[in-house]
Amino acid sequence: MANFGFSIKKTRSIQLNEAALAKFRQAVEAVPSYKNCIGCGGCTATCSARQFTDFNIRKVHFSLRRGQYESVAQELQKCMLCGKCTLICPRGVNLRSLIINMRQIIANANEPFEDGKF
Ligand code: SF4
Ligand code: SF4
Repeated sequence: MANFGFSIKKTRSIQLNEAALAKFRQAVEAVPSYKNCIGCGGCTATCSARQFTDFNIRKVHFSLRRGQYESVAQELQKCMLCGKCTLICPRGVNLRSLIINMRQIIANANEPFEDGKF
């Protein structure tokens, strides 16, 4: 086969079935304002923890919605719970509360998380 100096990445598929989103739904139930998120990125732009770490709360949004809870659990450790994201959110999402609840949901899980399996 010819070597073009690059390769094409293997397709990455995620099964968004009921089981994969159970914890996400639990989080939305605890913090209903999360349904109003439009993914504008305002929270990421103002995040205090982002100034000191590689924390990206917008990435956490996507991981959460895809059922990738292992990544969510690791990333949320970097949040300082300062509440700036909640103050600036144009959609009134209580992100700080979501983070606290998500940490709790993850801490209460009986089985270890494996991305896309819960
Ligand atoms: S600022 Fe609010 S609406 Fe924008 S991405 Fe963050 S949580 Fe969603
Ligand atoms: S509460 Fe967490 S995610 Fe929100 S701005 Fe503060 S450090 Fe960032």
